Amino acid sequence: MTKLEVQDNQLLEAQDQEHLWHAMSRHVEGSNPTIAESGDGAWFTDVNGKRYLDGVSGLWCLNLGHGRKEIVDAAAEQMMKLSYFPLTLSHIPAIKLSAKISELLGASYKTFFSNSGSESNETAFKIARQYHIQTGNPGKYKIISRYRAYHGSTLGALSATAQANRRVKYDPGVPGFLHVPPPYSYRCPFGEEVTNCDKVAADMIDQMINWEGAETVSAVIMEPFISGGGVIIPSAEYMQRVQEICKKHNVLLICDEVVSGFGRTGKMFGFMHSEGVQPDIVTMAKGLTSGYLPLGATAVKSEIFETFKEAGADKHLRHVSTYGGHPASCAVALKNIEIIEKENIVSRVATLGESILGRLKDLIGHPNVGEVRHKGFLYGIELVKDKQSKEPAEDAVLAKVIGLCKEQGLIIGRNGDTVPGFNNVLIIAPPLSSTEEDLNFLVDTVQNAFDHIN
Ligand code: PLP
Repeated sequence: MTKLEVQDNQLLEAQDQEHLWHAMSRHVEGSNPTIAESGDGAWFTDVNGKRYLDGVSGLWCLNLGHGRKEIVDAAAEQMMKLSYFPLTLSHIPAIKLSAKISELLGASYKTFFSNSGSESNETAFKIARQYHIQTGNPGKYKIISRYRAYHGSTLGALSATAQANRRVKYDPGVPGFLHVPPPYSYRCPFGEEVTNCDKVAADMIDQMINWEGAETVSAVIMEPFISGGGVIIPSAEYMQRVQEICKKHNVLLICDEVVSGFGRTGKMFGFMHSEGVQPDIVTMAKGLTSGYLPLGATAVKSEIFETFKEAGADKHLRHVSTYGGHPASCAVALKNIEIIEKENIVSRVATLGESILGRLKDLIGHPNVGEVRHKGFLYGIELVKDKQSKEPAEDAVLAKVIGLCKEQGLIIGRNGDTVPGFNNVLIIAPPLSSTEEDLNFLVDTVQNAFDHIN
């Protein structure tokens, strides 16, 4: 690096410290951030020329990695052709994408586009509440989600989020959001002796609906696999049971596929791991465009949409997003999906998630690893002080593993949720197009870090 480049980087770092408000991070005086300059596949290079494998796909979104020329071209071509158009009217990429989403979901859905996962969930809540009003059940407004879940940063989505640390400074949230315990078998919220934690957790939703009064409950929202809240992987039966409960009480099932959609877990959508489950509403973002442009989508079963279109009555959804379904974002999403299909990304994730990433399961032999949970390219490694007591590992242990990996050129993450002391799950979610060499490097680097923490 030349002297001039070093000076440029020092200026960038100083300006970063002075002016840029980073998401989620603690701002510590003097700590230099990683400033990325370019990317290539699953890797990025910082301004000092150091390369890193991005083991968390940015924020679980860079599913096809950096530098896909076809995606960039699709955006540029679309911008030249029609730079902007609102979806109060219509445009070709949004029409094609809505049809494609319906096809991928395996049933007839109508899609409302927004810009992010948070907005796609907000839209789902409004649709669920209005649907019940329009079908003669105006009292059904409550929305149930699970502790440890993350559903977004806007106030409605944050109210569905049940991670104490994220909410404490912004509460009270929006009224009408309730939370049940998650299907977290490793530390079953219903007691250590419970052997069918998933079933008890699902039945808890039934109980809550009974206690609250089914005539007051609108929807249940859940990720198929809680991701940011510590990678919690229930059995296929859990969601089947939840669907049964929702149907029994005329409560809509909203599936948040913001992380798990588009192949992350080894199926096109996470709910597809549970045979027979067909959510009423599916929300998406992130992997929908592989992060190349912002886009959120709320896909709603067509029979629900029917209740929004009665002629003469004021039944339409009073909801609009200026940039939601931007033509360029939709064009990018279409190209992204085309590549996912052409390159068999979903089955690749299912296979390599077991074969190469499956080697991460060997970490269970380490004294500080309590459990390794996974689905496809989504891994969570829960760290403990001691396997018997399951007491969560100290913050410093997680920081050490993350730091050692970073030194070796690998970025991994950790769960951002919950009460102090339970921030103890390392998270690994590399781009779905990572090469076998990339994945082997990832596993070797993590294993090597664990060899050096004690
Ligand atoms: N839902 C889930 C499961 C998420 O993980 C996230 C973001 O991480 C969101 C919703 C919110 O998405 P966004 O950050 O695009 O608003």
